[in-house]
Amino acid sequence: MSIERFTSNWNYPTAVRAGIGRIKDLPAACQELGINNPLIVTDPGLCELPFVLDAMQHCREVLSGCGIFSDIKGNPTGENVTAGVKACHAGQHDGVIAFGGGSALDAGKAIALMVGQRREIWDFEDVGDNYLRVNTEGMIPVVAVPTTAGTGSEVGRASVITDQALKVKKIIFHPDMLPKIVILDASLTCGLPPHITAATGMDALSHSLEAYCSPFYHPMAQGIALEGIRLVKDYLPAAVTDGNNLEARMQMLVASSMGATAFQKGLGGMHALAHPLGALYDKHHGLLNAVLMPYVLKANESAIADRLTSLSRYLGLENPGFESFLNWVLELRQQLDIPHTLAEIGIDDQQLETVGQMAVADPSAGGNPIQFTAAEYQQIMMAAIKGDT
Ligand SMILES: [Zn+2]
Repeated sequence: MSIERFTSNWNYPTAVRAGIGRIKDLPAACQELGINNPLIVTDPGLCELPFVLDAMQHCREVLSGCGIFSDIKGNPTGENVTAGVKACHAGQHDGVIAFGGGSALDAGKAIALMVGQRREIWDFEDVGDNYLRVNTEGMIPVVAVPTTAGTGSEVGRASVITDQALKVKKIIFHPDMLPKIVILDASLTCGLPPHITAATGMDALSHSLEAYCSPFYHPMAQGIALEGIRLVKDYLPAAVTDGNNLEARMQMLVASSMGATAFQKGLGGMHALAHPLGALYDKHHGLLNAVLMPYVLKANESAIADRLTSLSRYLGLENPGFESFLNWVLELRQQLDIPHTLAEIGIDDQQLETVGQMAVADPSAGGNPIQFTAAEYQQIMMAAIKGDT
């Protein structure tokens, strides 16, 4: 079968234009949303790359203007969002093209939210009904173009933004932050180096896996999670080994969107720990989930054994059960050169207590099959530092 078969339009969970080369549809997507002068929000590493410059050029030819903003950190901060809003006002932009990895997508969505607000961004943290404080008239539409396959932020209704003053990552939420149109074009992900492909792909896996294990009732998300995990199993190794394998790249891009769609059902302990560790040590979010995955699975074993038996049967693993699934995860990590311990990525036990407390308070903790205490999160972190699975 040829890669042509990927060319398709979906309307769930938002309007998705999938296929190799679909970036050509970017100006038309803007027009469809009434955007005449978009601001491309992208990562500093991408803003000089030909595919971003070409997309900007193409937009300028068809639309009345197009700007670019790329002053974003790997974990975007409130200051980055404020600077982006300023750029948006200065260029009189009427829409955002969030173009890049998870940080660019999260920053772009947050900038589009904040363009016409009087309150500060932290007033919209995903707590209770804070989102009702948003003046929706002050929001501008977003077209999302992911260039990594992992966060799935293109189909999410929230952004993770770091509050540098407090050193915590906050989830900023409003239902209308869901991008109006998403372009899933795997040709944009081919240049990603193997270690980023591996770390972001493991993030996609952790989204589907935590959603799948979470106890809440959401059969639609459950089905998406199951197939999302299979796509990672069948295509992530190939995407890491051969970055130009368009089929593997496309399937991973879809698996990433599926993971983020599935985690409406809930996340869990991997993310409850990865969020504080990311905020305190500034480490790659996907890499943290990848390292933490087997330790969190082990801690959850009593609550998830049955579910993982069904999952390993679906994946075609031998001797379906908790052990076979855990072994598959360990082998996959090894194959992808993911470090086995937190110690190997420079995380020690100095802030153990803080991390334990932050993990319990993290919104993701609510989706974990077992409600771990701060002390239990500390134990999991110690196991991940030492390598005890
Ligand atoms: Zn994640």
